[in-house]
Amino acid sequence: MCTFVNGMDLFSKEKRSKIMAAIRSKDTRPELVVRRYLFACGFRYRLNSPRLPGHPDLVLRKYRTCIFVNGCFWHGHDCPTFHLPKTNTDFWRAKIERNRSRDKAEQQALARMGWHCITVWECQLKPKVREQTLESLAYTLNKIYLEDHAVKYKLPEKDEWDMAAEKTIDGEKVGK
Ligand SMILES: [Zn+2]
Repeated sequence: MCTFVNGMDLFSKEKRSKIMAAIRSKDTRPELVVRRYLFACGFRYRLNSPRLPGHPDLVLRKYRTCIFVNGCFWHGHDCPTFHLPKTNTDFWRAKIERNRSRDKAEQQALARMGWHCITVWECQLKPKVREQTLESLAYTLNKIYLEDHAVKYKLPEKDEWDMAAEKTIDGEKVGK
């Protein structure tokens, strides 16, 4: 079953099937899954931008968003996929903890530069949950875009609100 939380039902049949093909393609390396999906949806991005902290996997300038596609092991995701190795456990625990702190510091640096950061985890791209993850990613990107652009508009003063309300009462629909 599909739920179209981000308005994907507005896409043409052709576009929709392109998107589905992107999701179901054979090469399921996590980063590729995300890239194919976003591209099919019409998002454009740069890869591994070397000038930004942490070299984000995808950079969507229009959305002021960096996307990291992270493996659950290396980046220490708190999920059932993550297991510390049974040998050299302390070594791995320390190493992964360092990775986590570095990820956090890099994302904080990006946020200070005005970037939104989204992390997509490997476990969220498993076949059963992949479609849902990607749709909510597209939804989040669109939401970010709208919010970034909404702040440019000042809310009307109270008087203007009252006037608008009166107009509606008079039977003249405002905003049509
Ligand atoms: Zn995970």
